Amino acid sequence: MRFSAWQVLKEGLTGNKGWKPHWRSPEPQSEYDIIIIGGGGHGLSTAYHLAAKYTDKRIAVLEKGYIGGGNVGRNTTIVRANYFLKGNSEFYSHSLKLWERMEKDLNYNAMHSQRGILNLFHSDGQRDAAARRGNMMVNQGDDAILLDREGVRDILPYLDYDNIRFPVYGALYHKRGGTARHDAVAWGYARGADQRGVDIIQNCEVTGIDIENGVVKGVQTSKGPIKAKKVGMVVAGRSSQVAAMAGMQVPIESTVLQAFVTEGLKPVLDNVVTFGMGHFYISQSDKGGLVFGGDIDMYASYAQRGNLPTTEHVIDAAMTLMPMIGKAKLLRSWGGIMDMSPDGSPVIDKTHVEGLYLNCGWNYGGFKAVPASGDCFAHLIAKDEPHPVAEKFRLDRFRTGHGIMDEEGTGSQHNTH
Ligand SMILES: Cc1cc2nc3c(=O)[nH]c(=O)nc-3n(C[C@H](O)[C@H](O)[C@H](O)COP(=O)(O)OP(=O)(O)OC[C@H]3O[C@@H](n4cnc5c(N)ncnc54)[C@H](O)[C@@H]3O)c2cc1C
Repeated sequence: MRFSAWQVLKEGLTGNKGWKPHWRSPEPQSEYDIIIIGGGGHGLSTAYHLAAKYTDKRIAVLEKGYIGGGNVGRNTTIVRANYFLKGNSEFYSHSLKLWERMEKDLNYNAMHSQRGILNLFHSDGQRDAAARRGNMMVNQGDDAILLDREGVRDILPYLDYDNIRFPVYGALYHKRGGTARHDAVAWGYARGADQRGVDIIQNCEVTGIDIENGVVKGVQTSKGPIKAKKVGMVVAGRSSQVAAMAGMQVPIESTVLQAFVTEGLKPVLDNVVTFGMGHFYISQSDKGGLVFGGDIDMYASYAQRGNLPTTEHVIDAAMTLMPMIGKAKLLRSWGGIMDMSPDGSPVIDKTHVEGLYLNCGWNYGGFKAVPASGDCFAHLIAKDEPHPVAEKFRLDRFRTGHGIMDEEGTGSQHNTH
């Protein structure tokens, strides 16, 4: 069924009885051409792009929980293409272009809203860094405007401009950046993949990877063994555990990132605002809640919940930047498991096992990557060669030291990015 204004009107007038489930719930077959482990944003997008472009393949997504239960449904929904380094900048630029046509491609309302992002800066040195980043963004073909203090004040009058420690000097303004409804992105890709014949199998945990003479043969799951010619691992915070099933030790540390939402308020915040010096970023959801987050919890963990010291740190930063937030009531908070790579950039690559592929290392910025990651991972799996915009996301850069992409310039350490 296609969604359209006519369909919504018709269903509204006839008791909404005609809507169908967005995807089937099939039992797994004994064999597929391609298995994708992980039904998060990246896994579903990969399956969608594989099925859309390589139509003759039998494809399954195996998800140990439910669709949208992982980071794809837990993030703060920020979508942007404001990267600095070659390798990252063309990839995220490609991703933003795919975002801009995603709703049409999927025939699904992902509530993608290009409301603009302002990255604040608070010193002359930071202004220089913002100007250099802005130039890189423009050179890449994306948009960036360097705003001075008064330019920011016109857009965000409610900030504390004269904070003694972090006075606002200006901002890098990225107008095409914004937000999207995270669950809808997962559901849209799941529906699109299902419509193209992909079997999406929920509550199916992969417990082992079958390898014979260096060639992948299939997987062991909580629903029994399934054979496959090719297998893609796309499990975000569980990357180390799943890769270990293939005898791999990947350079990923898993760390919790928390997010917070207030009660619903009248429109007060039109854009996305980031306050890097305080580790704080915020936007307002379409329901009215102020959605915000900060730094990771700093210790390795597989728990999908955070701890109070980080909560205190984030709220402290919020109050520093926009004291008005003190009047809002915090409704709830939650956490997701980040797959932190040493240089803060991702991996989309083959492994030492023939037919086994790895997609991981999205740190806390993988939501905006969902369309391009799926496109590029599908390309790699189908053609056995990297997509041109993802060819720098090689796993061996951590072994050889060549091609490290330390976007933040903080050194090769997982929890500093
Ligand atoms: C609080 C928070 C805020 C964030 N904010 C942003 C943001 O504003 N912008 C941005 O770009 N990014 C953001 N991110 C990061 C982004 O959400 C992630 O990088 C991205 O979603 C990770 O990829 P994914 O969607 O595929 O992960 P997931 O949704 O976690 O998918 C991985 C899936 O693999 C499944 N799985 C694991 N092990 C197995 C197994 N053995 N067998 C089968 N399935 C398995 C899991 O159940 C899970 O569903 C944020 C993340 C969090 C937690």
